[in-house]
Amino acid sequence: MFDIIVIGGGVVGCAVLDKLAMKGYSCALLEADDDVAVGASRANSGIVHAGYDAVPGTKKAKYNVRGAYLMPSLAKELDVPYKNTGSLVVAGENGMAGLEELMVRAAENGVQAEILDREAILKIEPNVSDAVRFALYAPTAGIISPYKLTIALADRAVTNGAKVFLNRKVVKIEKADGKFVLETESGEKFEAKMVVNSAGAGAADISDLAGAEHFDVAFARGDYFVLDVTEGKNVSTVIFPLPDEKGKGILVAPTADGNVIYGPTSIKEQIPSTDVTSEGLDAIRKGVEKTYKCPNYRKVIRLFAGVRATCGDDFVMEESKRVDNFVNLVGICSPGLSSAPAIAEWVESVADKKGFAKNTDVKTVKLK
Ligand SMILES: Cc1cc2nc3c(=O)[nH]c(=O)nc-3n(C[C@H](O)[C@H](O)[C@H](O)COP(=O)(O)OP(=O)(O)OC[C@H]3O[C@@H](n4cnc5c(N)ncnc54)[C@H](O)[C@@H]3O)c2cc1C
Repeated sequence: MFDIIVIGGGVVGCAVLDKLAMKGYSCALLEADDDVAVGASRANSGIVHAGYDAVPGTKKAKYNVRGAYLMPSLAKELDVPYKNTGSLVVAGENGMAGLEELMVRAAENGVQAEILDREAILKIEPNVSDAVRFALYAPTAGIISPYKLTIALADRAVTNGAKVFLNRKVVKIEKADGKFVLETESGEKFEAKMVVNSAGAGAADISDLAGAEHFDVAFARGDYFVLDVTEGKNVSTVIFPLPDEKGKGILVAPTADGNVIYGPTSIKEQIPSTDVTSEGLDAIRKGVEKTYKCPNYRKVIRLFAGVRATCGDDFVMEESKRVDNFVNLVGICSPGLSSAPAIAEWVESVADKKGFAKNTDVKTVKLK
């Protein structure tokens, strides 16, 4: 029996496992697929958001700001590609009110930001479109390889004694005599005293399986173009439009591996589908031309899509009131990548209250 089992090997589950293993807890992760980083954690923008966008007072704001602070040193420890690029939210002649609103949020969230005029913008990013007049510049934003981060977190957790079980889709959860019995599709059983549900798009189903709270989750697909590394010379920072009710909008950004991405869309889905559509690609083209003056579709090397699983307007991070020792991490959409290190700290603080034994031999291994 493990003290703690984490369900789901995305960036959140792996960050949690890493923290718990580092603390010396007996812990394991069950992942349905044949590797970690196969869900939203491999198909996103890879932006470490500065934290000016999230509504002050929300969990998104709190954990984004803390996660963005932790990310550079975490990436260094794990030897994962990360770059502090800063980010721009660009706007035309009529966009100042929107930028000022973001400045107020930035101040309330404690995030460094300033409004730049066109001359100052061009010094940072010469290829913004001719319509751009003003921008909010957030110098602490960055880019990271989301899948390399997830894999490195899982690796370090295993080095510190955690177990990772792949191809283990959890299909049944029972609790008796203070312990959980988790059953996988093949009928294999795993026991634990505490369960952390970080199953991404499947997290609401896992909560139902455990008899914990029911959550209504909505899905929104984000399509992307990926451009060849030769386009990397044209973009040095992350270029966002003003956000709208659908989200942060279509961005142009370098990736930590040296490519450039255009996207994502936000297209509602009934099920978590990752099929890119021509409707999505057209929406990206329209979005890109508003902010960026040298899109180059001849250099597109591939397309991909990721799916956001949202539950209301904020992250759900709570201990179940119906099932003791069952922790729900549901609706961890954007900025979930940026927030993952801080979400892991919160889960660690929950585990610390349970009085589980710690293996004091664990070394806080830093991977080279
Ligand atoms: C288009 C898009 C762009 C984004 N851009 C950014 C960004 O730039 N910056 C940012 O901070 N955030 C961004 N995000 C959000 C970020 O990607 C997510 O918040 C984060 O990846 C969520 O990680 P997770 O571990 O919760 O979920 P996932 O990565 O989806 O992992 C969940 C895992 O659970 C497994 N699972 C599901 N059901 C079961 C089961 N029954 N048994 C066992 N395992 C199960 C799945 O196979 C999966 O591997 C973006 C998201 C999308 C979709």
